[in-house]
Amino acid sequence: MWQGIVGQDAVVEQFRRRLVSGRVNGTFLFVGPAGVGKRTFALKLAQALLCREGTHGSLDPCGHCEDCRLAQAGNHPDLLTVAKPADKSEIPLSLLIGPPENRMRQGLCHDIGMKPFRGGRRIAVIDDADDLNEEGANALLKTLEEPPPRSVIILLSTGADRQLPTIRSRSQLVRFAPLSPTDLARLVVEQGIAKPEDAERVAICAQGSLERARQWAEPALLEFRRELFAIPVVEPGNSQSLAKLLLAFAEGAGKEAGERRNRLRQGIGLLADFFRATMHTLAGAPPSPDAELQRAAVAAVKTRGGDLESVAALVERCLEAVEQVDRNAHQTMIVEALCDDLGKSAALHAGLV
Ligand SMILES: [Zn+2]
Repeated sequence: MWQGIVGQDAVVEQFRRRLVSGRVNGTFLFVGPAGVGKRTFALKLAQALLCREGTHGSLDPCGHCEDCRLAQAGNHPDLLTVAKPADKSEIPLSLLIGPPENRMRQGLCHDIGMKPFRGGRRIAVIDDADDLNEEGANALLKTLEEPPPRSVIILLSTGADRQLPTIRSRSQLVRFAPLSPTDLARLVVEQGIAKPEDAERVAICAQGSLERARQWAEPALLEFRRELFAIPVVEPGNSQSLAKLLLAFAEGAGKEAGERRNRLRQGIGLLADFFRATMHTLAGAPPSPDAELQRAAVAAVKTRGGDLESVAALVERCLEAVEQVDRNAHQTMIVEALCDDLGKSAALHAGLV
């Protein structure tokens, strides 16, 4: 483990070798799921590259020099960061090439070309690079084509396919792995995200992402999940209790419509997970590490049987409902229609229709 960064030793080793052989300048595209440490690593790497007191080639910043202190406080004049503002859906062009009245005289693409203030390098971290629009990506491209000397540009993205081919081809790809359930469970407890008794369950649900673990650790969600898997959801006659449970979970989010939508998305997403697990069980795939989900899937197959195709249709039906939630359709109607369809399908398979 390097500088408290868990589960990314391969990436650390890659940069250590780059540093020793002097291949650390240029553009890097960090890809991997949200919440696996890409941003933390980028900022720590920036600190290490700006620190002039660290042991040569060790990649370890000293932690107490002026450069380290400035970098840690987010105030280093040679460390530039850009991220999507919380209230925007894209990275504004002005952050990259300056406001309209000052195009190309401000913004990251201009600033990265300036001489390092403190004599080392200029480093830019572009967070949320998935949210670059085409205009922004093209503006950035000019800088990537001719990166200023002694500059390092790091783009953070959830997948290489989220970037324009022109950006990809000018960057060196660095892959971040999802965190292992063991690492994630430890982090979840260390950071106070979940209680030790819930850590394993949260870690499995979060599928390698600390960000998803934060969502999963919410007690209401864990409780909803427990109740959902306790209902034999695909049994005929249970569609009303299922609808009630989903709607109560959504309403538990309070008055904020966005929060309620979020919960419905999670709740219906869980139903889709359940049907997927049922498909895996039917197909004889190895059991899911998620014991709760696995138990529910095995029980469903045992009591109801079913065939892959009809269960796949139920997954599709859930995804359709999630799309309706995203489109802001009437929530009660979405849930009732969904549960009704699921109930019909269950009845059909049980030979009751
Ligand atoms: Zn230092």
